[in-house]
Amino acid sequence: MNKGVLFIISAPSGTGKSTIVGEVLKADPNIRFSVSATTRDPRPGETDGESYYFMSREKFDSLVNSGGMLEHAEFCGNCYGTPKGPVFKNLEEGHDVILEIETVGASQVMEACPEAVGIFILPPSLKTLYHRLKKRSTDSEEVIKDRVSKAAGEVRKAYKYDYVVINDDLDTAISEVRQIISASRKLTKLNSDTIEGVLKEC
Ligand code: ADP
Ligand code: 5GP
Repeated sequence: MNKGVLFIISAPSGTGKSTIVGEVLKADPNIRFSVSATTRDPRPGETDGESYYFMSREKFDSLVNSGGMLEHAEFCGNCYGTPKGPVFKNLEEGHDVILEIETVGASQVMEACPEAVGIFILPPSLKTLYHRLKKRSTDSEEVIKDRVSKAAGEVRKAYKYDYVVINDDLDTAISEVRQIISASRKLTKLNSDTIEGVLKEC
């Protein structure tokens, strides 16, 4: 059996990656979402263990120090990281895994897992990004400005990813991400078990 495919999805905060990933997950039961750890406070509606594992800085540092994180990074004053165990367990069991993470952590995953498929989602413009964050109403004006000010630096890193998708019309963006996921499952480098299986019978 081939292993699952590891997808890294990044975008400036407010672009719409959670919205897109949510729709992709709803439509495809083989894909597992990697629940990250964070020291950020929960937003209204976020559930511990589903949206994130919310934890203290001490607990986060101890997970990092014990080698429990696949990657980790600081973003706008909070720490975020991907618990390693569930990612590899799901991949070994043949499930695809989506990491929804920022660009510093994404570079660490690309280094550790070169077979991972990177998708960068672009906002139509920085002005649109600001308005989406305002409309989402989950962050203060100061936090919104901080997040938007990071966006240009993040967009410059889009070149490191395998694919870019613009999230202007939401349905189009969802459909494009789904097509990329579907095509990536056929990548030669991820299908050696299938090829070898056929060769065995030759
Ligand atoms: P991110 O996860 O990248 O921070 P979200 O998924 O939370 O972004 O989306 C930010 C806001 O933008 C949300 O209020 C969401 O409903 C809205 N949004 C997402 N995609 C679009 C789109 N294509 N057009 C208009 N609004 C969008
Ligand atoms: P938010 O606070 O809006 O939920 O997330 C802020 C940023 O952190 C987003 O770009 C989000 O994708 C990113 N993020 C979420 N989880 C992780 C993670 O596990 N690792 C890294 N490096 N970034 C993460």
